[in-house]
Amino acid sequence: MVTRRSSATAAPAASPAPAPAPAPEGPGVVTSVESIAQDLAAAIVERRIAPGTWLREEALGRVYSVSRTKVRAALVMLAKDKLVHTVPDKGTFVCQPTVEEAREIFSARRLIESEIVRLFVARAQRADFDRLRQHVRMERSSLKGLALGAVREQLLGDFHVALAEQTGHTVLTEIVTELVARSSLIAMLYQSHNDAHCATDEHEQFLRLCEQKNTEAAVAYMMDHLTRLEGSLDLQQVGAGRQLDLVKALMM
Ligand SMILES: [Zn+2]
Repeated sequence: MVTRRSSATAAPAASPAPAPAPAPEGPGVVTSVESIAQDLAAAIVERRIAPGTWLREEALGRVYSVSRTKVRAALVMLAKDKLVHTVPDKGTFVCQPTVEEAREIFSARRLIESEIVRLFVARAQRADFDRLRQHVRMERSSLKGLALGAVREQLLGDFHVALAEQTGHTVLTEIVTELVARSSLIAMLYQSHNDAHCATDEHEQFLRLCEQKNTEAAVAYMMDHLTRLEGSLDLQQVGAGRQLDLVKALMM
């Protein structure tokens, strides 16, 4: 995974990624493949480069003063993180999930996660609650000062994966893992800056309801939590003309 170097997405203590090198003065002095990938990832998650933007290899090579081979290697790293995708014979573009895809992912999550909550409440032991509470504490300490971005979304999404894991249902856990990864990307790209979703408090409240064995209240709370998360996304900006010139965006 690419370690983003922006202040908004700095790796928290929980991240296994190595500490990033000191931030260079600007894109012009970034030369390693990893640094180029970090710089581009930061520009994408900070939304200086809009979803759907064509990442022209030649222009990027000029910005970073490197060969197209290095640019291509950096783009491959970003593709692994699903920040960009390559279209054969066309080029590499910043991922742009559609409104329909976003809505479908959240409706699928509500469907699957209501069942996960039921399974969890039915079989959760003290140790399961302890593990999830530990996750919530980690979210709270790691997310301090972390407004928006990939790391934040991943941490918050991990709670839902951890919850699924406690049910012992392997297939549901696999499905949730994929849905969470896709919705984290969507949240990262489209979450409104004015309405950052305060998810950690809600994870805590959800666990309280589960501990009271109040299954229906816990399911309803989880459904509302996912609906609020979906509601905090500004899907109107999907496909909207927010295109900044690529080179200018990277020099910002
Ligand atoms: Zn959540």
